[in-house]
Order: sequence, then C-alpha cells, then structure tokens
Amino acid sequence: MNKIPIVGGGEIDPGGMGLTLFHEHLRLITEVVRWNWPHLYNDEEEFRRAVEAVNAAKRFGAKTIIDLTVAGIGRDVRFDERVVKATGVNIIMGAGFYTYTELPFYFRNRGVESLVDAFVHDITVGIQGTNTKAAFVKAVIDSPGLTKDVEMAIRAAARAHVKTGVPIITHSFVGNKSSLELVRIFKEEGVDLSRTVIGHVGDSDDISFIEQILREGVFVGLDRFGLDLYLPLERRTRTTIELIRRGWVDQILLSHDYCPTIDWYPPEVVKSTVPDWSMMLIFEKVIPRLRSDGVTQEQIDKILIDNPRSSSQENND
Ligand SMILES: [Zn+2]
Repeated sequence: MNKIPIVGGGEIDPGGMGLTLFHEHLRLITEVVRWNWPHLYNDEEEFRRAVEAVNAAKRFGAKTIIDLTVAGIGRDVRFDERVVKATGVNIIMGAGFYTYTELPFYFRNRGVESLVDAFVHDITVGIQGTNTKAAFVKAVIDSPGLTKDVEMAIRAAARAHVKTGVPIITHSFVGNKSSLELVRIFKEEGVDLSRTVIGHVGDSDDISFIEQILREGVFVGLDRFGLDLYLPLERRTRTTIELIRRGWVDQILLSHDYCPTIDWYPPEVVKSTVPDWSMMLIFEKVIPRLRSDGVTQEQIDKILIDNPRSSSQENND
C-alpha cells in the first residue's frame, strides 16, 4: 500500500489519516505582494490564526488536514511545519499552480513539460528545498474558463498524476460548469478518475448537474461550508443530505476551504461577509443536521474518514 507523505518529512499509511478535512488552507497570500511589501503582513499573527483554526478542528477529532495552498497563493512548507509542531495534527501538502488566467512567463515560455517537471520534483524530491513531499497535485479552473495557460496547468497536473500516481484535487467554478472541463481533460490525459476530486461542486445545489459529475466516477467536493456568499449553509446541507439519500455516499467529501488568513480582501471585509466560516462549522452545524435527518454514523464516517483515505490510496495494491 502506498504511504502518504506528511509535512515534516514523514509518511503515514492511508489508514492513519483518520478524520480528515480534505480542502482547507493554513494561510492564503499573494506571493508577489508579500515578496515586495512584507511590511503589509504579520507572520506571527498569521501563525497564531492558523494554529487556532487547526486546533479548533482537532477538538472535533480531525487528525489530518489537507492544505490546498499551492504555488500562486503562497504555499510555504516551513509555515506549515511550524503549525504541525504546534498542533500535532497531520498536514498534507501538494503540488500545482493556482491561476484563473495566466501562468508566469517562466513556465509559459518553456512549455507544459517544464511545469510537469516542477510538480514531479515536489512529489518525488520535496517542496521548497525540504524533505516534505507533495502528496497530491492540484488543478484549477474558475470563471474565465479554459484559457491557454489554465489548460496548460491542468494538463501538467494530469501528467504529474499519471507519472507519479498521486491523486488530483481540484478547484472548479460551477457558474460556467467548468467542473466538466476538468473531467474532459483528465480523460484525454489518461487520468484515473477514481483518484480525482472535483472541488467546489457544492457551490451548486443543482442535483442533476452534480450527479452528471458523480457519474464520471470522481469524488465531488462539498467543500465550502461557511462561504455563504456562494451558497448558504442550509442549501449546502440539504444538497448533501439529498446526495446521500440518492446513494452517492462513497463519492462525496466535506470541507470548508477555510483560510485563517486571506489577503485578497481586508480582514474586516472577510469577517463581515462570511462571519461563520471556520474549520469547525461542519462539526458544529452540518453533522448534527445530517444526523437529525437520518444520516447514520456509518455514513458520516464514510464521508469524513473512508473517502479521504480511498481518494489518497492507490488502487493497484
Ligand atoms: Zn481552496
């Protein structure tokens, strides 16, 4: 059975992941801004907020958190290492490039294989000069759809998966049904769809659209609980219950996409726009609601423990 690399340089059996939040962030920052204007940032405050969020999830039994922060949004393995030391929670990091439109000239001018090589380096050697290996590769598509560079980054992620066997976890935008573009490209690239997560599908409560994606055999991320501006909690929860009722329990994953720090907006705007967003909302509000609607503990364990494990596990052993 394949081992899962964790932050700090160790590795665990997939069975050791336990209760897992599969799509969160410890810190999301804009690299070019931070590099040039470090005075705008407060590293210690960001660290305190990350530890607070991870400890909150830990109190509800979370043993593993997958940090979807990749290149482009401030991936920093040393920051995550400090959070692991402070909390004792397993953190898993990945490769990938986060963009809605363009890649840096470095990769644009060298072509797709240069990006594949960078991802494979993170997976096989380690991230940012450390011995922490990437355990997954991320692919991203959003409202601008399939730009030339976005397609290059998605194909590079797919090829890194084919070369190394790591799962693909994705960010998609439901407004233009770009989730389906990911599936199409993955098929062209020979990706094992059972090892992919189509993320942010839970921003929609169009059950027939979600089932169209599920029928491809992928995992679907209902992974933005608390981000009410995209879809309110109640509608996310009802969609989850309906998908379980229809028999999709083996293919759904829950998470918050929570960012203890996100520099895209002033902090007070984040606080006032999404006041309930946290790394514990699923445990506080969603799971109790699922239970009262007849979802069993076995089904809850399937979604929070078994599905993250089976999406991380290679099928051939
Ligand atoms: Zn995310």
